[in-house]
Amino acid sequence: MVEKPAENSPTRHADKSREYVRIENVTKRFGDFVAVDNVSLTVFKGEIFCLLGGSGCGKTTLLRMLAGFENPTTGRIFIDGQDMSGIPPYDRPVNMMFQSYALFPHMTVHDNVAFGLHQERSPKLSRAEIDKRVAEMLDIVKLSQFGARRPHQLSGGQRQRVALARALIKRPKLLLLDEPLGALDKKLREHTQFELINLQEQLGVTFIVVTHDQEEAMTLASRIGVMDRGEIVQVGTPTNIYEYPTSKFVCDFIGSVNMFEGQLIEDEPDHVRIRCGEMPSLVYVDHGISSAPGATVWVAVRPEKIEISRTAPTATENVVRGVVKEVAYMGDVSIYLVKIDSGKTVRVTLPNTERHAEDRISWDEPVYLSWHPSSPVVLTQ
Ligand code: ATP
Repeated sequence: MVEKPAENSPTRHADKSREYVRIENVTKRFGDFVAVDNVSLTVFKGEIFCLLGGSGCGKTTLLRMLAGFENPTTGRIFIDGQDMSGIPPYDRPVNMMFQSYALFPHMTVHDNVAFGLHQERSPKLSRAEIDKRVAEMLDIVKLSQFGARRPHQLSGGQRQRVALARALIKRPKLLLLDEPLGALDKKLREHTQFELINLQEQLGVTFIVVTHDQEEAMTLASRIGVMDRGEIVQVGTPTNIYEYPTSKFVCDFIGSVNMFEGQLIEDEPDHVRIRCGEMPSLVYVDHGISSAPGATVWVAVRPEKIEISRTAPTATENVVRGVVKEVAYMGDVSIYLVKIDSGKTVRVTLPNTERHAEDRISWDEPVYLSWHPSSPVVLTQ
């Protein structure tokens, strides 16, 4: 089996000794349709957990069950050790930030943020206390100067921060965020991701974030749960999910990958040999996978793990010939599309480390592609 490192990448301030949310065998059916299929999951106190998956895979439905807007058809949800069955949304230690932000257009920023506090009944807060808490919160989200404005007088990023302030003002222990950055353009989204991380660290609130954007999940999350057709198919740190995917679906969903189908010839604890129709020689990988020889497997190699050269490498295994068909200069990296002898197109990413690279490999050049035996992941499903 692949030796997978412990899930110990920088999980920020997560307290892994304290389980905060436990989802136990939760299924949600709408009529005959199964939107969430027997999901079990633990989220730790103080972590940013991202639910990542394509459209319609059940992310929002799971979030809505945590918030109490939907009830599980079967299964149970515990928050801070308490069974949430029958507990209405307003009695849960949870708040939810919606994708649309749902700000009140006729209210000022101050009043939008204060709204939840005005609803508090026990104890009812004085106006002075409310103003103090709103001022503190606007300071945290860096909007102190904007209290008197209305939402239409703000930028998209500022509106997002108002929504965040409004969601956090009641000091929830758990904040559920549904595509929190979906309305922002790429540059602002990247900037806001780091702001969100800082804010979460500052307040120590546990975040569960729904997103379909794998880059966003990789940046924000201490751990990611990848969803497909109602199921959680893999849970792990961003590094784990990217480097050690357990299925073709996850491998393909997270980042780019080149996939070669093959047949397992030899499987030893420290290596495997695979015959791939697209490769002239056997593929050698330096870890075993505990499968029976003869099994169909997939060799998955990330584009940045492939080397490209004009001359044949000394190794004969894990080498394939091809011709460069496309080169895309992206600034930090260049992407090469190489048509190998079998006709398949392989994607290779190279860093642009030198500014004047006159010797760069270009269109229509014959090349050799190769990779280190530790680079591929061998998948059986
Ligand atoms: P997106 O990223 O597009 O928002 P999602 O992963 O959040 O997708 P959900 O909103 O959880 O997906 O929906 C999962 C499935 O359940 C979808 O096929 C959706 O049509 C269905 N669904 C959601 N709510 C209901 C409902 N109230 N009645 C019937 N079907 C529903």
